[in-house]
Amino acid sequence: MSIISKDISKAAQLLSAGDIIAIPTETVYGLAGNIFNENAIRQIFKTKERPLFNPLIVHIAKNRALTTVARHVPEKAQQLADAFWPGPLTLVLKKQDVIPDIVTAGKDTVAVRVPNHNVTQDLLKRLDFPIAAPSANPFGSISPTKAAHVDHYFKTKIKMVLDGGACHKGIESTIIGFEDDQPIIYRLGAISLEAIEKAIGKIALKNTDNNTPNAPGMLDRHYAPSTPTIRSNRIMEDVLKHKGKRIGVLTFMQVVQHESIEKHIVLSKSGHLEEAMAQLYDALHQLDSLNLDLIITEIFPDHDLGKSINDRLKRATYSS
Ligand code: AMP
Ligand code: MG
Repeated sequence: MSIISKDISKAAQLLSAGDIIAIPTETVYGLAGNIFNENAIRQIFKTKERPLFNPLIVHIAKNRALTTVARHVPEKAQQLADAFWPGPLTLVLKKQDVIPDIVTAGKDTVAVRVPNHNVTQDLLKRLDFPIAAPSANPFGSISPTKAAHVDHYFKTKIKMVLDGGACHKGIESTIIGFEDDQPIIYRLGAISLEAIEKAIGKIALKNTDNNTPNAPGMLDRHYAPSTPTIRSNRIMEDVLKHKGKRIGVLTFMQVVQHESIEKHIVLSKSGHLEEAMAQLYDALHQLDSLNLDLIITEIFPDHDLGKSINDRLKRATYSS
């Protein structure tokens, strides 16, 4: 029996009873639990096989005051919240004491965002607690952007996937932290660096996604297909280098042809980065399901959302 359902009140019941379920957001599907229920939070880490040192993002309802979660909101954080919430922006702020250590991996900061998805906002309105929701996939694998992706990963390990259709943005949120009240981008994501700078001016970039000060580079591989995957600036040359293999090709807008290419996905024929971003993970899921010998992905133009897409592709193809 499928665990995919559109029943929001059942989702609310399960979460209130301390269960974990998958929920739709505009970025990717999340594996959600009550932040105040330690068992539920442990279950999230266990189901994902996510290391406990990797903190979770807290998702709050539109009408919930940020100060119920964060103890201090710098001026630029408020400006960012006003500009981009609800939306794919996560702010890392000094946490309120009530936020459990297991959610923040023992840090005195909490990552928080207001998701822009009607179904999940409706769900959050029915709950009297925020939810923690990392991506609903086994740690390190491609994030899910459709209910079916989650079902494929977890089957009956979770009780429900709340179906909200395909995720509109399609990659994870942009994460911004504060040091001495000055904003720093910790992870590129579904809001471009350019859009952030338009709202609050110049911002530093310190790519510390996964926070591994003790193990630098350890998690450079993330969001990865199980099929060997490489990035390329010259797709045709690389196809020829590997001819004879069964190859999958993923490009932004160009079309390439060769008999070794078994499946070719063009992310946006009209050349729109936003559209390409929304299709990216679904395309990787499709290619990864075909048991190919090799996936070759194009390197995107390194501006606007192309930068965020390149960040994900770099991690998807990292090999040490
Ligand atoms: P995700 O895996 O998409 O749910 O995003 C979680 C990421 O948010 C982590 O891997 C960290 O990079 C970041 N994060 C969460 N909480 C914090 C925090 N308190 N301080 C810094 N980064 C955080
Ligand atoms: Mg994730």
